[in-house]
Order: sequence, then C-alpha cells, then structure tokens
Amino acid sequence: MGTQLPHLNFDGIGRVLCVVAHPDDMEYGASAAVAELTDAGVEVHYLLITAGEAGIREMKPAETVALRRDEQQEACAVVGVNDLEILDFPDGLVENNLELRQAIAEHIRKVRPDVVITMTWELTVGWGLNHADHRNVGLATVDAIRDADNPWLFTELADAGLAPWSTKQLWVTAHNEPNAAVRVGEKAKDRAVQSLAAHKIYLESLPDHMAPEKFIPEILRGGGEAAGTEYAAPFRRYEF
Ligand SMILES: [Zn+2]
Repeated sequence: MGTQLPHLNFDGIGRVLCVVAHPDDMEYGASAAVAELTDAGVEVHYLLITAGEAGIREMKPAETVALRRDEQQEACAVVGVNDLEILDFPDGLVENNLELRQAIAEHIRKVRPDVVITMTWELTVGWGLNHADHRNVGLATVDAIRDADNPWLFTELADAGLAPWSTKQLWVTAHNEPNAAVRVGEKAKDRAVQSLAAHKIYLESLPDHMAPEKFIPEILRGGGEAAGTEYAAPFRRYEF
C-alpha cells in the first residue's frame, strides 16, 4: 500500500463555496464532506451552473427545471446547506468562456469563501469519460478564483460593490490523484446517502443506477481505504 492520504482539517475555514455543473453533482461523495463541514459550523454555499434541464430523457426541459430544483433543495437541506443558487447556462452545452468565468467570479466575491470546491476537469475519471459541462465548469472555476482576486478584471463587479476576494484553497472532487481526504463519520455517511436519494425522480429515470444506500457507502469506503479510516471523501487540494 502507498502512503495514506492526510486528513483535511477545517482550521481557519468559515465559508465554503461549491461550484458544480448540475443538480446531483455534489451528491456522489462530496456531500459527505459537506455534512462534516456544516456539522463543524462551517457555512457551505452551492452554485450550480445549469438547472440540469436536459437530464431526463422522458421529460421536457421546462418541467425538469422545477423538479430538479426541488430535489436539489432537499439534497442541500439534508447536509445543512441553506444557500443554493442555480444559474441558467445551458445544460449539456456549457462552454468555458469569459461569461462563465465572470459568473463564477461574481459569486466568489459575493460569498467570500475560504475554500472553493469543484469537480475534476480531467477527461478520464473513475466512472469513464467526464462530461463536457464538468470539464468546462471545473476549469472555469480554477480561472474564476484568480479572476475574483484581480481588481482589474471584470471591473463591473467592483463597480457593483463586489470587492476582490482571495480564496485560500481549492478542493477538487472526483480527481484521479487525490492528495487529502475529509474523514467521514457514520452520520455524515448516512446524510450523504439521503442527499443522493433526494434526487428521486431523476434517479428513477436512470434504470441502471445503483441504489444510493449501496453506492455511496461503497464510494466513501474507497476513500476511507486511502485515508486509513472507514469512510472518507478524497480531494485534490490546492493552496494559494
Ligand atoms: Zn453532472
């Protein structure tokens, strides 16, 4: 066995902003870490770039938007997240462009997080080939962290009263080479299961999807093996 992943501690972390492409992206393991964070008194905010309106084959996008918003709201409540913002970039067609970077930078300046969490932008991931929206949102988030701290970029943000903000850490979920992990207890593991189960109708539309109560403990046990504990949520951490 290789060296164990060090445990991520929450020292000096007051606020965390999670930036992902779709409803449910946080619910494949990362929400277990969110449950631990909110339990420790950390304020966690979610920013979804799309409403996931193209995610249910049998349902028209206009209906899907409302349904998935409700399901995401419930998934958030389960892990102690009160602030959910969903932008209206087009599901499935998100581009890594300046409009996206500015939208994320704006949110970073509003929330003023110590840590930003996003999903890996690698092409090949544990479940196969990564989705274009995940890749583009992940990369745009990396750049938006830098943009948010530069007073000379997107100056309309400063004009609107949003001062530059320097994020201290980036945690990337689903990364192939994690370098740290959040230790996940039994209770947070159960809440992570519930948070994925909250996407009820969405999951029902995917006939081959494994039941959350089987799937999530398996994912977290894999992280735990790497971190020397029963359950853990691994991340690739970058410090600035
Ligand atoms: Zn997704």
